[in-house]
Formats: sequence, C-alpha cells, structure tokens
Amino acid sequence: MAVYNFNAGPAVLPKSVMLKAQEEFVDYRGCGYGIIEESHRAKAFDEIIQAAEANFRSLLNISDDYAVLFLQGGASLQFAMVPMNLAIPGKKIGVCDTGEWSHKAMKEMKILGNEIDLIYNGEPCKFSKIEGIKDWKIDQNLAYVHICSNNTIYGSEYPYFPETGNVPLVADMSSDFMARPFDINKFGLVFAGAQKNIGPSGTVVVIIRKDLAARCPATVPTMLRYTTHIDKGSLFNTPSTFGIYMIRLVTDWLIANGGLAAMQKKNEEKAAKLYAAIDACPFYTGTVDPASRSMMNVTFRIKGGDEELEAKFVKEAKEAGLIGIKGHRAVGGLRASIYNAMPLEGVEALVAFMNNFAKVNG
Ligand SMILES: *Cc1c(COP(=O)(O)O)cnc(C)c1O
Repeated sequence: MAVYNFNAGPAVLPKSVMLKAQEEFVDYRGCGYGIIEESHRAKAFDEIIQAAEANFRSLLNISDDYAVLFLQGGASLQFAMVPMNLAIPGKKIGVCDTGEWSHKAMKEMKILGNEIDLIYNGEPCKFSKIEGIKDWKIDQNLAYVHICSNNTIYGSEYPYFPETGNVPLVADMSSDFMARPFDINKFGLVFAGAQKNIGPSGTVVVIIRKDLAARCPATVPTMLRYTTHIDKGSLFNTPSTFGIYMIRLVTDWLIANGGLAAMQKKNEEKAAKLYAAIDACPFYTGTVDPASRSMMNVTFRIKGGDEELEAKFVKEAKEAGLIGIKGHRAVGGLRASIYNAMPLEGVEALVAFMNNFAKVNG
C-alpha cells in the first residue's frame, strides 16, 4: 500500500532526496564514512554549505546585499532573535496578526520591552482570512513590520505581500518557503524552519539584508547576533551539518525540477484539486475564506465540526495509508499539509478517500 504523509512538520521530503541520502549515508561520495561523521570545517562539508547557499541564491535570485544563514533554535528562536537585533529604542514594531504564530512572535517582542503597532487584526474573523492587505496603513516610523506568510495552523496564506515603503518587512515563511517565487528585495529578513518544506528539523534558514544586521545593540550575546553568523558564514559554532546536507539535496531537487515557478504551478494544481473536493461536497467545509486559502496546509471540517466523525476520518485515513490529517491541537478539525514534496497522486488518493468517506458517512 502506498503511504502518503500529510504531516504539518516535520513533513514529507522528496522520495529521490531520501533515497540519495540513504545511498550516501554510510559512505559519503566515496570518502568511506558518512557526512554526519565529518567535521564542519572539512572540505567536504564546506562544499555542501556553499552549494546550499548558492542554490538559494539562484532559486530566489538573491543579491550580495543579503546573507543566507543556516542557524539553529528553529523558527521559534527567530521570534526573539529578530527583535533583539532589529528593534530600535523608541520605535514600535508593526505586526499583522494572522494567528498563533504571530502571537508567539509578539510575545517575544513584548518580553524584550517593545511596543507593538497592530497593523492587521485577524482575531474578529477567527483568522479565517487575511484581507485588505493593499489598504493596510504602514506607519513609516516603525522599526520593522512582522508577518507570517502562511499560517500552518489555520491554513491561511498571503495571496500577495504588503508594501511597507522604507520600513523593513520581516516574514516568518516557515511553512511556505520555496513553495512559490517571491521578490526577496521586498524583505529585510525572511526566516523559515526547515522541517516544513525544505529539510529535516534542526535548521532554520535566515535571509537577511546585511545593512540591517548592523543595527544590533552591543548588549546582545555573540551567538544571538546575525553579524556573528554573517561574519563566520554560519560556522561560528557547529551547525546542524546533516540538516544543511539535506537542505542542499532538497534545493538541488528544486532546481532539477524547474525551480520555484514550476513548483508553484504544481502546488496550485494540488491545492485546487483538494479544495475543489471540499467545495463540491456539503459534508466538508473549508475553514478559510477562498481568497486567503493556503496552498500548503488545507484545513477543513466535517459537518461544520463533528468531532466524532473527524476522529473516524483520521483513523480510517491512516488505515488507508493517508497519514497526519488531524488538525492542530489549537483548532481541531482536519488538515492536510501538501508541501512541495507531496506528489499529485497523494492528493488524488486523499480526494478519493474523502469522496468515499462522505458517501458512507454522509
Ligand atoms: C512550525 C512553525 C514555526 C515553529 O517552528 P520551530 O522550528 O518548531 O520553532 C514557526 N512559524 C511557523 C509559520 C511554523 O509553521
């Protein structure tokens, strides 16, 4: 039986990448031992981290004004590290609140003593949409603006990004990073935990405009300063070498498969199939407004929130080889995460299962 993994993260990786990693695991390219046993200062690893960075630079067309970093502590540490480095005394931080992940970012900003200017509040609509983006008022005196491009939990995604003028835009792109092309020059800083769309957990990719890194006050510890990692090429301390190796393989795969425009096309096709199945059947309801629906995390309910039937759905889906469909514990319901590496056949198998489940239980 084919197994399709719809976990939200850690999540599915391309099968060919998994097989390549398996092939190289005990003997990396003829050296007689594995890359996880190699020094992060060795030539073999240097080639890997350079290639990973070059892949991002080529896929996103990143100029020398930006650094590409491979750090640890997940996206969660970035919630603290960004304000530690980029906040400016006396200036507020702008936040667009699209749910849980925005709250976690705001919590750290507040702990560090920052005042927040709430640019968008998704609370009244229970985070079911991200609307009016082009009309958002951005005070030009803000230190920076924080957004979460795709809310993994609610299943909402920015259809396009706000224009922030001269105020640096910071994006938590953990769950839709490398799923579609975007203009990096619109951003001051982008971060993404690898485990959603580009590799295993343990690495967070940070792309930062180098001039912004210089803002960092003298009181921030060495390990928590972007400048430290820029100066040392992400090798200030021992990085997650295996994570970076996997990211290199995944980004090789992205390039071999036509890059981000091709990826977006495939992702749109998969998402359209799944949302069409939800919309065609009154047994299912999507939880997000169609204009804000995520291409990556498809959230839905059965009969408007029948928890018993939803539990049955999760159980029977699992028996049919469709893994990880349970919604996040904060919101319940169902969620199918269909990241880059989810093949179209996986979505088709889920749609067939859904149609049959509705017929039997409707
Ligand atoms: C998963 C996730 C995080 C948290 O990532 P960690 O690596 O576990 O810290 C943050 N933001 C978004 C949007 C996520 O999906």
